[in-house]
Amino acid sequence: TTFADLGLAEPLLRAVADTGYTTPTPIQAQAIPQVIQGGDLLAAAQTGTGKTAGFTLPLLHLLSAQPVKRAGRPRALVLTPTRELAAQVEESVRTYGKYLPLKSMVMFGGVGINPQIAALRKPVDILVATPGRLLDHAGQKTIDLSGVDILVLDEADRMLDMGFIHDIKKVLALLPAKRQNLLFSATFSDDIKALADKLLDNPGLVEV
Ligand code: AMP
Repeated sequence: TTFADLGLAEPLLRAVADTGYTTPTPIQAQAIPQVIQGGDLLAAAQTGTGKTAGFTLPLLHLLSAQPVKRAGRPRALVLTPTRELAAQVEESVRTYGKYLPLKSMVMFGGVGINPQIAALRKPVDILVATPGRLLDHAGQKTIDLSGVDILVLDEADRMLDMGFIHDIKKVLALLPAKRQNLLFSATFSDDIKALADKLLDNPGLVEV
């Protein structure tokens, strides 16, 4: 399998070629076509498997089909447990999206909120966030989550371990009911299964 076989748009194939990757990893080969088709996805994947490109590439592909930019109103939301992971994921979005006219932003707590508020006055297509700071913005109405068509929960097991389940549920309540959901987790506890049951509609399964 090549990246071109997976159905990704040409600007994404060029960006992938620039990174030097020649072959999709197993999770990429399985996840990318399913996400492009538009369905929900449940993926069991550890760090190091290439999972980040497994969701950022099809996310960029889907959004690039209709490039609409709205200030402070993202069309895709990626939730991560930590600021380090949020920064890494957004870096991947920038790397793979460099030939597309899409805008991304990262937000997390522990830093000043004002630069984030200023950034939200500009267009944003893809927002990568930790749950607590995202809810701070939602509470202050500095972000509009009503345009989120695609939600990704990355390292969902770590988010639950860190006690984010209530924050996640609050975020879910702010999103449109009709959307595509992707859940990535290294492990599958009963709590993750319960979250997957609540969140996902007839998901495709990916295990590597
Ligand atoms: P991740 O599991 O998303 O944290 O990615 C692990 C590492 O694999 C990262 O350093 C990526 O840059 C790298 N990587 C992702 N996809 C590929 C690929 N198809 N070929 C080679 N390396 C890759």
